[in-house]
Amino acid sequence: MTRPEVTREEMLKVLSEVTSAADAEGAVDQRDEEVIQTIRNLIENNDKLREALESMVNQFAYVGQDENGPTLLEIGYSAVREAFEALGWQSPKPIPERKCQAEGCKKEATCGTPTKDGYKRLCGSHYNEVNK
Ligand SMILES: [Zn+2]
Repeated sequence: MTRPEVTREEMLKVLSEVTSAADAEGAVDQRDEEVIQTIRNLIENNDKLREALESMVNQFAYVGQDENGPTLLEIGYSAVREAFEALGWQSPKPIPERKCQAEGCKKEATCGTPTKDGYKRLCGSHYNEVNK
């Protein structure tokens, strides 16, 4: 069985479900175990919904930086904070898959470009270096 792609519309629907679940509980700006549990129950047996929630967090969460590379932070949108908790993610969450592919660089890759060694995802500085 092939895994279906998560469309933008589905992602927005998940975001809407998460935030309206929080709204219904009157807990938009506070952590509420019941809201988190509702979201956990929703994603527990629904891989597509969980993946959409992960995609939402990846798209909307702030990206930080630690000594090893980029991280996702559970700050900002309440939906992101609730999603972190529902997914069981710790903040800051390391995201090595989003690290710049230049040798030794630990910044977040924000763009991609063909290089002499093939296509690479790079930070702004290394992108400029390759394309100057
Ligand atoms: Zn870099």
